[in-house]
Amino acid sequence: MKIIVCIKQVPDTNEVEIDPQTNTLIRTGIPVIINPDDKSAVEAALELREKIAGSTVTVVCMGPPQAEMALREALSMGCDEAVLVSGRKFGGSDTLATSTILSATLKKIGYDLILTGRQAIDGDTAQVGPQIAEHLGIPQVSYVEEITPEKDSIIVMRQYEDRYHKIRVKLPCLLTAIQDLARPRYMTVKGVSSAETREIRRMDYDDLSDILDAAAVGLKGSPTQVVRTYTKEPKAQGAILKGLTPDEAVDAIMARLHEEHLI
Ligand SMILES: Cc1cc2nc3c(=O)[nH]c(=O)nc-3n(C[C@H](O)[C@H](O)[C@H](O)COP(=O)(O)OP(=O)(O)OC[C@H]3O[C@@H](n4cnc5c(N)ncnc54)[C@H](O)[C@@H]3O)c2cc1C
Repeated sequence: MKIIVCIKQVPDTNEVEIDPQTNTLIRTGIPVIINPDDKSAVEAALELREKIAGSTVTVVCMGPPQAEMALREALSMGCDEAVLVSGRKFGGSDTLATSTILSATLKKIGYDLILTGRQAIDGDTAQVGPQIAEHLGIPQVSYVEEITPEKDSIIVMRQYEDRYHKIRVKLPCLLTAIQDLARPRYMTVKGVSSAETREIRRMDYDDLSDILDAAAVGLKGSPTQVVRTYTKEPKAQGAILKGLTPDEAVDAIMARLHEEHLI
């Protein structure tokens, strides 16, 4: 089984700054990590490989040249292959253009099972995984917490707020992973040193141009218009109750909530 994991390199913070001129993310000078959901997806893929003889795990990342770091980290966890999709023509891509480029890449390299994270901690839209499945015309299940392989299908547990769905999906398909899917393994020293010299396959617009329309990528292919970005107003100063027993504190909070007509 050819398992693909789409990983995104994201800033190691939830405090993403936005460029007020271009309304795009400012990425310079911020430490970067593999998006947490994606790292769980990598781990789940490696565990599946151990269960299904002859399987391979390929990680794919679209981003600037420095996104190679994320791919090397995935290689050092044990992935078999890494693909960096990068190029000037791809700059400024919104989620639609990103998923268009990633799905073209996946058509080129082949796949049986595609894993993405549920959502990236910077863009936060949770759109790219489902959009890739739509472009490829394959079934998708989001919020996946457990994967059990069968012969030509897989059984997944989809997490809801108050329940689970157990779903059988035919391959090829796409799953979006939540962090509960798997706890990422640590990189080994041997893994890290061998990943440093492993080859990373690079793909740019020219490698995909036979199946990718130039008007569908980058800013031209991005229908999303960011109208305005702004910093949230700080909330009003809270009250701190000091020197009370737990019971007195509960009474004081209840009294305050009544006073404000909140209960
Ligand atoms: C108008 C506009 C302009 C933008 N311009 C830029 C820009 O110039 N430069 C820039 O860096 N960003 C830019 N962005 C942000 C960019 O579109 C998003 O970061 C990207 O499309 C992914 O969306 P998301 O972060 O919401 O991912 P989500 O949809 O939340 O991600 C879900 C999952 O999809 C997969 N995934 C998402 N992105 C990638 C990726 N790149 N490679 C591999 N897998 C991926 C991961 O598995 C991830 O967990 C722009 C966005 C908009 C709206």
